[in-house]
Amino acid sequence: MRVVPISLPTPFYIGPVNVYLIAEDPLTIIDTGPKTKDAIEALRAGLRNAGYLVSDLRRIVLTHAHEDHCGLARSLRDEAKNAEVFVHNWETGHRHSRLEYEEHLNLLVRAGVPEDEIEKMRALYDGMRKYADSFGDDEFTALWDEAELEFETGSLRILHTPGHTPGSCSFLREADRTIIAGDCVLKRITPNPVLSPDPVNPSRRFPSLAEYMVSLARLRSFSPTLVYGGHGEPIRDYEELFHRYFRAFQERQSQVIGLVPKNGVTAWDVALKMFPKVDDVHRFLSVSEAVAHLDMAYTEGKISYELNGPTEVYKPLA
Ligand SMILES: [Zn+2]
Ligand SMILES: [Zn+2]
Repeated sequence: MRVVPISLPTPFYIGPVNVYLIAEDPLTIIDTGPKTKDAIEALRAGLRNAGYLVSDLRRIVLTHAHEDHCGLARSLRDEAKNAEVFVHNWETGHRHSRLEYEEHLNLLVRAGVPEDEIEKMRALYDGMRKYADSFGDDEFTALWDEAELEFETGSLRILHTPGHTPGSCSFLREADRTIIAGDCVLKRITPNPVLSPDPVNPSRRFPSLAEYMVSLARLRSFSPTLVYGGHGEPIRDYEELFHRYFRAFQERQSQVIGLVPKNGVTAWDVALKMFPKVDDVHRFLSVSEAVAHLDMAYTEGKISYELNGPTEVYKPLA
């Protein structure tokens, strides 16, 4: 089974995104790049180098539904006529627009984000919409944990690896313990557990960091020899990266607990203290990070919280 990585430009801070062509019948692409002219041109060139056209694609598989990974899915599907799109059911909230739903706004209010900041975030994510076409619920096939994507000479096992987003999936080729992991595993940066509603009960928050740690440990259980991430170069030393992530999580956890004073704080307060200078999309990501760590600290019994109106206020243990 030939895996062909193709790097595509994105207009985002993160830089280029990796998509993966599985050059075998049925011809499959894992992730698509954002909906920009530069990305589609680079993708066409990458496919051409491997001996294919967009119209040859039969399956479009998404690791998760962030714009840099799913943006071109609809265009590719339409151009390739019979191509089928696959994404995990739990990505529903992301297939449209991240701050579109009432639940997302509620999560920001609960985190103590001021109204004008919520408006800024909303405007920002509205601006992101042009980089991805949304999909209706009847326009994709669901990816299931432990199911296989069959190819002529082998298969990829689907691993549901939530954390970065609730429906993030990775793909394992058992024969050589290679994993395509999307944004679950990135070489140079610790990926964000992004603030999301719980897909099973949208009035609740998805326990992204706790889920993320389980996913990273699960990937480790396969002793991968090579992990292809959504950005940056492939990882050959997953074991080392795994420990680095855990150290980073623990350090952040201690830092966050240290930022909880007697009179209490909101996740927004903590985000501002951790990242005083951030703006744009990073403002939302910094809130995500603060919420993820406060949630985790609360779950582990290290801090308490109470509600002040709709807003959660975290306090040290009495
Ligand atoms: Zn992502
Ligand atoms: Zn990404």
